[in-house]
Amino acid sequence: MSDCLFCKIISGEIPSAKVYEDDLIFVFKDIAPKAKVHLLVIPKIHLKSLENLEQDHKDMIAHIMLKLPELARSQGLDDGFRTIINTGPGGGQEVGHLHIHLLGGEGLPGFN
Ligand code: AMP
Ligand code: ZN
Repeated sequence: MSDCLFCKIISGEIPSAKVYEDDLIFVFKDIAPKAKVHLLVIPKIHLKSLENLEQDHKDMIAHIMLKLPELARSQGLDDGFRTIINTGPGGGQEVGHLHIHLLGGEGLPGFN
């Protein structure tokens, strides 16, 4: 059994507030939201970070990108949203399973 926190969330071993799931991805609410809406979008296959993406993952990563606006709208984010991917310790990544933060709404800080 994988020792990965997000793999355990996908399998249901650790509970989460699930928002969406399909064959390729799992989407749930961040446990410590940084804005009114803060989702985590993760691939069902275990990939540590963007550094581990390979050509074989093109369809999965394209699927995530195409899904993001739909997920944002489903959360009421009609006028835009922010996505963040932290990669490696230098990028502030704390959980070693590739994830895309989807943020928006009240509380979203400026970026500059
Ligand atoms: P990162 O710093 O990019 O690795 O982001 C990891 C994110 O995972 C943080 O925003 C955490 O709040 C979030 N997180 C950690 N544990 C859980 C959990 N059990 N359920 C939901 N989100 C979590
Ligand atoms: Zn994992």
